[in-house]
Amino acid sequence: MPRPPKWRRVGFVPEVTYFKPAGIPLASLEEVCLTLEEAEAIRLKDREGLEQEECARMMRVSRPTFHRVLGSARKKLADALLNGKAIRIEGGNFEMAMRRFQCRSNGHEWDVPFETMVTRPPAACPTCHSPDIRPAPGFGFGMRGRGGRRGGRGRWKMQE
Ligand SMILES: [Zn+2]
Repeated sequence: MPRPPKWRRVGFVPEVTYFKPAGIPLASLEEVCLTLEEAEAIRLKDREGLEQEECARMMRVSRPTFHRVLGSARKKLADALLNGKAIRIEGGNFEMAMRRFQCRSNGHEWDVPFETMVTRPPAACPTCHSPDIRPAPGFGFGMRGRGGRRGGRGRWKMQE
């Protein structure tokens, strides 16, 4: 029996997902692939400076798992930086954060993927088209993404 994938919660998808070192011909360029959960681990621990325990809690994984994901991420980044490899961020087993919106005219609530909210925030209620909308308190999570090497954006599907 294959083990079921472990979904890790990701609250962020980086806008730039490919990094290429300068001056290396494409033909001889090697790349490392950072999964979205690895990028999230780096973000929470190294960028936000949170304690491992909190990072693990935010990603809904055990501490040892978080430690392993973080270790793998750091190793890949170090490899890329020191050996002049490109970095691609994609794929992995992750759950995408959704932001719930609420219409103040008819009370309708709907979920907007975090990424969409950042790039194209909703301007009106999808049912009554009222512009009087606001983010509902708290985050809702309802989207999952799963990628192989070419996974990630565009292949997310709603759960249930
Ligand atoms: Zn409405």
